[in-house]
Amino acid sequence: MENLNLFNIPQQIEALRELINKYNHQYYILDNPEVTDAEYDATFRKLKALEEAYPQYKTQDSPTNRVGAVVSEKFDKVTHKFRLYSLDNSNSDEELIKWYERIQKAYPGEQIEVFCELKIDGLAIALTYENGKFILGATRGDGTTGEDITPNLKTIKTIPLSIKEKKRLDVRGEIYMPKSSFEQLNKKRAEKNEPLFANPRNAASGSVRQLDSSITAERNLNIFTYAAILKDEKIKSHSQMMEYLRELGFHVNEIGRLCKSAQEIIDFCKEWQDKRFELDYATDGIVIKVNDLKKQDELGFTARSPRWATAYKFPPEELPTKLKEVELNVGRTGAITPVAILEPIQLAGTTVSRASLHNFDEIQRLQVRINDTVVVKKAAEIIPKVIKVDKSKPNDNPIEIPVPEECPVCHARAERKEGEVGLYCSNTQNCPAQIKGRIEYWASKDGLDIDGMGEALINQLVETGMVKDVADLYALSQDDLKKLDKIAEKSSNNLYNSIQKTKRPALNRFISALGIRFVGKETADILTEEFTSLDEIMNTGTEKLSQTEGIGDKIAQSISDFFRDKNTLQLLDKLKKNDVIPTKSSIMKKSDIFENKIFVLSGTLSSLTREEAQEIIKSHSGKTTSSVSKKTDYLLLGDNPGSKLQKATALGVKILTEEEFLNMLNQQKTE
Ligand code: NAD
Repeated sequence: MENLNLFNIPQQIEALRELINKYNHQYYILDNPEVTDAEYDATFRKLKALEEAYPQYKTQDSPTNRVGAVVSEKFDKVTHKFRLYSLDNSNSDEELIKWYERIQKAYPGEQIEVFCELKIDGLAIALTYENGKFILGATRGDGTTGEDITPNLKTIKTIPLSIKEKKRLDVRGEIYMPKSSFEQLNKKRAEKNEPLFANPRNAASGSVRQLDSSITAERNLNIFTYAAILKDEKIKSHSQMMEYLRELGFHVNEIGRLCKSAQEIIDFCKEWQDKRFELDYATDGIVIKVNDLKKQDELGFTARSPRWATAYKFPPEELPTKLKEVELNVGRTGAITPVAILEPIQLAGTTVSRASLHNFDEIQRLQVRINDTVVVKKAAEIIPKVIKVDKSKPNDNPIEIPVPEECPVCHARAERKEGEVGLYCSNTQNCPAQIKGRIEYWASKDGLDIDGMGEALINQLVETGMVKDVADLYALSQDDLKKLDKIAEKSSNNLYNSIQKTKRPALNRFISALGIRFVGKETADILTEEFTSLDEIMNTGTEKLSQTEGIGDKIAQSISDFFRDKNTLQLLDKLKKNDVIPTKSSIMKKSDIFENKIFVLSGTLSSLTREEAQEIIKSHSGKTTSSVSKKTDYLLLGDNPGSKLQKATALGVKILTEEEFLNMLNQQKTE
């Protein structure tokens, strides 16, 4: 063991314990880890090694003897009838072989069968069924005491609420958020300027540990169940138990294999190390379990984990490499973003040669210089990022990264905006990089979705001076487009048609395409629902805008500033002259029965999805908002409502059951 001062071993052990307890709290309770899993694992291993080398300092309350963390006060506590454990790790082929040999030794002459399955990177939970009914769902907590999150778990469609098995059944599983849902959720949060989740695991944990179960219901969570405790003589192995869980309607992962040697285990681990990137959920390793349930019983548990199982953790999706240079990118908002150009490395299944450095404050925080060895991480997000400098690696030619004084593209002054960390190009109207970015956004899927308008084409249009803003696109003739390099007659005609097709955009798309700061698709939808026309939005003051449900002060200010800017007014004028006129598409109106009525939905409806209920309310001239306030007229109540129900009751808001709501609609039809 290196760098150890023998005189202060107890202090070092204590310091490591404190550090791990802090990390545990951030990870399990706050869902907001400060360090990477690899760094956590390294700290944990260091503590474990010290405790093994100096057993006189071992204590019962060390995190190496415990699972997770104490539970949050937010929830009711649940004492688990059967403890929940963590897993021991085998991090190399040698360790896997050693683990398998140890099990074999306990059963001389027998060929030990193990079941290998994916280790899902989510949040462990315990489900209890009695008399065929789901009665309790709890987090793992510290293994003995968990948090009661039953109402939230009931919103997850793959957790059966009733099953045919009438004996008590305790099920273990992992709640996860699909990667695609995680990306969508973070995109929405970014639009609203809300803090982003670090990875799908934290998003799943944050979503399932909500006080309001309607938030959980919106988050598209799922579960893989991977163990159960059931008194049944016929079920003799883990794989049979999984089959039975499937039969009962539980979601059990199809990926798994029975192995009969260490080599077969290693092959399975290696196979999924590469293939895991094809999956829409995060997996951080393989769990290997002795298949025979009787042997599992005999082998038992340590204080922290079963002896009959081990986890092979995939190598971290972060690796060191050299920072060769820093490139400056300028986006549509004028933000100047530093991008790390790296010595290429293979990371999470792809070659990575560029990574985000976010902004210049981040460069300063990381204290990174050119030629440093940096650690690059690719989490579930697509864009890899530099997370730290490996200071232990020498840098023979360190070069400081200066904060630029000018825009690298148009050389206008670079400036900071009040209250923001980023650096911006001050030439908002004429910087080619900003113009390109705005056109790209206008033509993108979140904007007007102009078919065939790719990056290379936009570059040409801007660089040749044919287009200076998005309005110029509509003045381009077929002949103009034919003049472009490498564009065939047919595709120039197609492009012309796809531009012309977007001359009557729906108002919400038009607003989104304008690229107003903090206004993405969702806010554009809210504005379009609340106001009747673009003029009305433009003429509404900041204060009134901020009173709109879903639009905070910051967004309202940004919308007002945008529409007061003379450049915006000129652009809108030019768009109009070029015959681009947004239209307010409205949902087919069926009646006025809910006119001026504000609805809030809580819980899961049985005959309608949330979106369907919202559409119905809108089509009868009502509105839906996401939280209960004095202005709310009705709370439409589904199963497992969250705290909205209490709030609505306290405020005297009328509560409508699904049946009452449907009756109101039927009555209207017969009138
Ligand atoms: P673990 O995640 O290493 O393994 C145990 C867990 O694996 C089980 O509780 C279970 O929920 C889960 N699991 C997933 N699929 C499974 C399957 N098919 N079969 C059985 N179990 C399955 O251990 P842990 O105690 O939950 O967490 C420790 C890990 O969490 C650390 O190694 C680290 O990666 C991470 N962590 C990170 C921080 C941080 O600050 N970054 C802090 C605490 C923990």
